[in-house]
Amino acid sequence: MAANPQPRPERKFTRLRGQYVSAEDLLLYQSDPKREEKLGWTSISASGLAFADTVVCRECGQILTSIATVHLRSHQPPLAGTQKGYRARWLDAPVLSPRAHVNVNKAALKYIAANRQKMRGKSADWRKLPGSKEKIKNQGKRATARRRTDPGPRRATDRKSYAKRKIHRATEGELELFLAYPSNLDYVVCLENLEDGSICRAKLRDIGPAHLPQIHKKTVEQYQEEHPGTPTKAGPKEGRRIGAGKRLDLFITATRSYDHLKATNPKIASYGLVAKKLTPTEYDKDQKSAADRLRQGANYVRENFPALFSL
Ligand SMILES: [Zn+2]
Ligand SMILES: [Zn+2]
Repeated sequence: MAANPQPRPERKFTRLRGQYVSAEDLLLYQSDPKREEKLGWTSISASGLAFADTVVCRECGQILTSIATVHLRSHQPPLAGTQKGYRARWLDAPVLSPRAHVNVNKAALKYIAANRQKMRGKSADWRKLPGSKEKIKNQGKRATARRRTDPGPRRATDRKSYAKRKIHRATEGELELFLAYPSNLDYVVCLENLEDGSICRAKLRDIGPAHLPQIHKKTVEQYQEEHPGTPTKAGPKEGRRIGAGKRLDLFITATRSYDHLKATNPKIASYGLVAKKLTPTEYDKDQKSAADRLRQGANYVRENFPALFSL
């Protein structure tokens, strides 16, 4: 092969070791824990050289990628000396550059994956410590921010946990109502069978555009083939009924409780008694209007959803 000598690329980085920021600069770092972040994690040494992806030791002004314990040992007590001491003295000052942070996290995750059993106990203990509460909260906040800016890597896991915990599920009553009156409501319930034999029960206005394809990997057509006649979208506005959910649920329960009282103990049957049992807080505040609300609700559901009541 013919020699094709390329000019050597100019060396971009000077060796980091032993570089310090100027004394004036150090004062700025000491008074501002966010200085690295503001400067895009690039530090300028006293001799004017720029170092990307670095942090500055608040004790001595050395430019580093991580302020390791080894480095801190050179600072005698009562100065920093230890990680704990350093962090306490320089609250919120970074000890890792962004790249170092990523590397440390990767290494930690690798270690955790290899020592799962041991770590499980450890992290359970840590979570119980009183000082950990705030840290757990902040961890969550940082993770959310990270995912919002870059959802890619965690998307699959996020969807899974969303499917498990975040989807609003219909209650027994809402499901029953939907099965009896699928088109009269301002919500629909997803009837897709899950692996564990239960049904999905997601309660939404429209399960077509996102829920079916993303959670069940199905099109509306496929879903309707398996569940003929089941709507995937709440009816038109004028067809929609009051208070999807909780309130209707309550009215149905109230109506049934009242009917039950009427059948078993007609002398004491009253909506006041039903209100006292079902909405005790409202009842305590104002007995009459609590009872009236339930009576009106009962009339409403009797009229609109008669099939739900045998009496
Ligand atoms: Zn130092
Ligand atoms: Zn579903």
